[in-house]
Order: sequence, then structure tokens, then C-alpha cells
Amino acid sequence: MENTDFQSIASKLLKPLKILITTHTSPDGDAIGSSLALAFYLRKKHHHVILMAPDPFPDFLAWMPGHNDILVFSKDREACITAIGNADMIIAADYNNFARLNDAAPLVRQSKAVKVLIDHHLNASDEFSLKISVSRISSTSELVYSIIEAMGDNDLLDKEIAECIYAGIITDTGSLSYSCNYVKTYLIVAELIRLGVDGEHLHRLIYDTYSESRLRLLGYSISDQLTVLPGYHTAFITLSKADLEKFNHQIGDTEGVVNYALSIKDINLAALFMERDGIVKASFRSKGNFSVDKLAREHFNGGGHRNAAGANLETSLAETVSKFRDILPSYQDALKSVYS
Ligand code: 5GP
Ligand code: MN
Repeated sequence: MENTDFQSIASKLLKPLKILITTHTSPDGDAIGSSLALAFYLRKKHHHVILMAPDPFPDFLAWMPGHNDILVFSKDREACITAIGNADMIIAADYNNFARLNDAAPLVRQSKAVKVLIDHHLNASDEFSLKISVSRISSTSELVYSIIEAMGDNDLLDKEIAECIYAGIITDTGSLSYSCNYVKTYLIVAELIRLGVDGEHLHRLIYDTYSESRLRLLGYSISDQLTVLPGYHTAFITLSKADLEKFNHQIGDTEGVVNYALSIKDINLAALFMERDGIVKASFRSKGNFSVDKLAREHFNGGGHRNAAGANLETSLAETVSKFRDILPSYQDALKSVYS
């Protein structure tokens, strides 16, 4: 499906609607940032907006304006079911397949609401009637900025919206270190600072909030749990349930761990496999033109972006790692030169 033009979307928003903004499981900074920014904007346009995430977001996002109003399906089930039932419009922000709503997916799919996609991942499902999907952009949060701009509503931007968009851009680009080779991203960041964002302060709120056990878990992941396979330009980390319990794992504690495996010279593919809630959560990262979206889709029923993707697997940790090792030979050539 082609992207919907802005005018068609604008025409659907002429009268006040009950809008439910949803985002993906294990919400990250861009999921929460883009959802909140969109909510603030749509409320200024006189819509009634409710936000819903499938499960809780990490504590390092708990400074964000409006975060207390986000309904969490796994905790506030009844309120979420009511909100889904009442919605005229349901927006999917920062994901592109309702499957990523976990238990809320069937309810959202059954809803008669107009379904709108606002996202930057590859391979959107066809369950949306309106779609704004842009993959060559830093983040969904940046996309929200561009939508507000395209709607001619720059005058509605304020510090709150700017902080949410800034958090989304910063967290989805590793503090402007990947997925951000775009002039527009930097121009928008400059504009966000002009709107009152204190970039240094927000950076500290997001990144300098480790608990001692989180930092020790990071150290353990690297010193004890990292496997490096130079022949395949690959490195991966495994964390069992027992490992996570030993370090009193909290939601968000493993965020960023996989990037350390990718920071090794000549490592072009990195993975983190961890046992969580009876499943194995896989995170994949790559350099250059090696697509982990493709790898995750073809072998692990997951997906994401070219250089950052994930999957949730029913297999055991050992089975998952063994499968990962088994597929590496088929990528050996592709992993050799990722910048050609
Ligand atoms: P992370 O490794 O940080 O959890 O996720 C990396 C990227 O892959 C994110 O953009 C995320 O939305 C996407 N992703 C993570 N898990 C899944 C999954 O199970 N399925 C799909 N399609 N995408 C995922
Ligand atoms: Mn994102």
C-alpha cells in the first residue's frame, strides 16, 4: 500500500475524534516519545486522545511529559479494552504489525476504528487503512515532527512536544550515531533545542540513570557472556533467566547491551539472546549494508530495520543460539564486506 497523502489524513481529522494511540511491546524511547508527541499535538487539535502500550516502559523514560497517562494493557486491561472499544481511530506508532501488541492485538484487529500507521520500520502489514511509513528517517518521533510540519501546524509545537521528539530521535539513533545521516534530522534537532529542549539534561535523564546492578550486568554480559566468532565477523551475548535474576534485572536494563558486541573492530553482526517471561528475546545489530531485518524475518519470524532488528522466540536459549550458529555460514560472504 502506498503512503496516504497528508491531505487525506488531514480530512479525516476535521472533526474531533476519540483517538487511541498504540505502540509496541517493550516500548523504547521512540515508541513512547512519538506516541506522547502525537498525543499532545492531536489534543491541541481538539481530539480526545488515549495512549496504550502492551507492557510497561523502562524507568529511564519516566521523566517524559505525560508518561503517567499511558495505559499499559498488561496492567490496566479493563481500561484498555474500553478505550479500544470506544476509539474512532487507532494509530499504530513506531511499529507496523498489530501482532506487536501481544494480547491486545485481536481486540485492536476486531475494532471498527479507522486504523492509521505512523512508523519507520520496513515491511508494514496491510491491516491499516491510512499509512505514513518512512524508512529513511531517524525515528518515528522525527516523522511525527514532519507530519506536524506538513499539516502546517508548526505553531503548535512547544517544549513538551519537543522533549518527546528529542528523546525519540536520540534513543533511536544511539545519540545521533546511526540511522541519522540526514540533514533534516539535524535541522529538526536544532529546532527542538530552539523550542526549549535542554539536550544535555535530557541525555543525562535517559542515559545516566543506571542502578549498580544494571552496570554490573553490563560488565558481566561483556566479560563472561560474550562469544566472538571472527571468521563470521559476528559476536553475540546470551543471558539466561538465572543471569538476569542474579543482577535483579529490571525492564530496560539490557537496553544497549548488544551495541557493545558490535563495537568490536571488524564485527559486523551482533546479537543478544536473553530469556524473558518464558520466551527468548533476540536483538540483532549490524554495520553497513548487512540487513538484520532480513535475517530476523527469514530465520526468526522477527524484523525491524536494516541495522537493528529483533525477534521473540519460543525456542530455548540453547536452541536459539544453536540455530543462530547454524545460519552463519550462509552469511559468511555477506558479512565479510559490509561497506561495499
Ligand atoms: P530491539 O533489539 O531494540 O528490541 O529492537 C530493534 C528493532 O527491531 C526495533 O526497531 C524494534 O521495533 C524491532 N523489533 C524488536 N523485536 C521485534 C519483533 O519481535 N518483531 C519485529 N517485527 N520487530 C521487532
Ligand atoms: Mn523507532
